[in-house]
Amino acid sequence: MHNPIKTNIITHSIKRIFEVLPPGYKKRSIRMMLLLLMNSILEMVGLAAFLPLFTVILKEGVTESHHIISKAYQLGGFNSENQFILVLAGLIVFVITFKNIMGLFIIKSQAKFSLSLYQFFAIRLHKYYYQKGFSFFKNTNSNIIMRDVNHETQKFANQMVLPMFNFLTETFILVFILTSLVLYDWRAILLLSFTILPIFLLFYNWVKEKSLKLEKETFRITPKLGRSIFQSIFGYIDVVITNSLRFFQDSISHYLNKQIKLNIKRVVYQQAPTRVIETGMVVTIFIITAYGIFFLPNRAGLAALLGLFALAAYRILPSINRIMLALISIKGHQYTFDIVSQVNDLKTDADEDREEALSIPFQRDISLNKVSFRFPDGHDDVLKNIDVKIKKGEAIGFMGPSGSGKTTLMNLMLGFWKAKDGTFKVDDIVLDESNLKAWHKLVGYVQQEVYLLDATLAENVAFGMPADKIDHAHLEHVLKKTSLWDMVQELPDGVNTQVGERGTRLSGGQRQRIGIARAIYSGAEILFFDEATSALDTETEEDITESIRELTHSNLTIIVIAHRITTLKYCDRIFQVSNGEITRETGYKEIAGEMLGLGD
Ligand code: ADP
Ligand code: MG
Repeated sequence: MHNPIKTNIITHSIKRIFEVLPPGYKKRSIRMMLLLLMNSILEMVGLAAFLPLFTVILKEGVTESHHIISKAYQLGGFNSENQFILVLAGLIVFVITFKNIMGLFIIKSQAKFSLSLYQFFAIRLHKYYYQKGFSFFKNTNSNIIMRDVNHETQKFANQMVLPMFNFLTETFILVFILTSLVLYDWRAILLLSFTILPIFLLFYNWVKEKSLKLEKETFRITPKLGRSIFQSIFGYIDVVITNSLRFFQDSISHYLNKQIKLNIKRVVYQQAPTRVIETGMVVTIFIITAYGIFFLPNRAGLAALLGLFALAAYRILPSINRIMLALISIKGHQYTFDIVSQVNDLKTDADEDREEALSIPFQRDISLNKVSFRFPDGHDDVLKNIDVKIKKGEAIGFMGPSGSGKTTLMNLMLGFWKAKDGTFKVDDIVLDESNLKAWHKLVGYVQQEVYLLDATLAENVAFGMPADKIDHAHLEHVLKKTSLWDMVQELPDGVNTQVGERGTRLSGGQRQRIGIARAIYSGAEILFFDEATSALDTETEEDITESIRELTHSNLTIIVIAHRITTLKYCDRIFQVSNGEITRETGYKEIAGEMLGLGD
């Protein structure tokens, strides 16, 4: 309205909404706004529908004196006023029923619109965060990702876009009512502008910064509460053993308290406009009354003025109320723009399809060529001048003390990190972001901790595959190859046995084998193992090492990190890593002999 800040927030928000809305939604927005406008108009018509009935019932002889009513009376060919009254009452039933059916329909399309907007941004944002890559996921608490993807996108739709539609349609309605009021009696406008409007502006100015602060604080607290709950869930054993449940409960209740305080404030802010406006109304009535007593010649004049104000206020206040609520919401949720606008940086579908379709033929070798690497926040190179060529079908081992850079090297080969200098090549193709997906089609990765889905054993091996698409013949073959078949036969539901959220029903060795089976099921040609067996007892380790050794007879290329030399006994070549450098290349016999010699 007249306040420049308010104009700014509206135009600014409209601009930003238009920047982030995809083209299809822009058209839908306009349709949505027309529907909302229709809703408001229907509400007004619903109220107005009672007027003729009351007029005819209350005013004697109005069917003759009132020019519109008398015309309707004549045109309808009514025989008596009673008949006319009955028809008018029936008309109200029709109008209100129609209004309510339409109202439900409009509510439904509004919900559809906002939920699909939420879905659109939630899916994109999830994808965008994936695109941001490994280091983003490593450094960002999962509760933050959860909040942005699932909650902030919803808030953007429900607390920013919808209120904006409401604001625009209600402003339109308000202007319409004000114009008709001016035509009816300009003094009504004068009354409103000197009473309701200042109260409205005062209240809005008081509440807007508070609302912004409130929503920002909620934004900050939400993931912390989630984190303290999840930590106590995932850390169950440690919590119980260290007897620290109290500590975790304190932290949960600390954040719960904060959140509750914020929610109480929000409830009050949402209820306040109605109360403020009503209070404003009685203040106005007081002023009018005082004015009437001192300046108007008689009571009739005062009554007329009060009547005029009541009529104006009655029409205008619901509109003002909705405008106020919309403004508070729009102001409070400005920050959601920063969250959802990130999807503008998403790769295009065409780019993605191209990457998806690409494949790298792997014929000869993979090579690290004078590769060095440093973490974004690090001071020193964690990998220095690594120069290694691995031929197709070879089994290669990396050995070295903890912290020497073995995992980092493997993550670099897998494309999770980008080299600072040097290149990583598959045959002659330099690996970069554009062909990473193609590279991943070739590889399987078995980590020390195999990640298990809360799903069946079959779904865990055929990772990311819908249950009905699983190739059971292939699955059986893979399970036999990884020595899981006999174990599976003993499970209550065979391959369809649920393995639990964190695979707690499986032993370490079984989880490891599932990891290997997963890599083989996917058709990987190059298998990476990062200390995959180091957490296992010697016997299980030997067992699994034997399974891996059997794999070396197929055409697979195998790259293993191990800290026990015996795990590497099937390796063709072994590289020793120390302090980010490859210090030596040996064979198993040579190094095992030395180590046994040293050990004994
Ligand atoms: P290894 O697997 O040989 O035990 P890593 O490759 O895990 O060693 O770690 C090598 C070095 O890099 C260590 O000094 C470790 O502290 C550091 N490091 C590992 N991950 C990160 C990271 N995300 N950010 C910064 N430094 C890291
Ligand atoms: Mg490691």
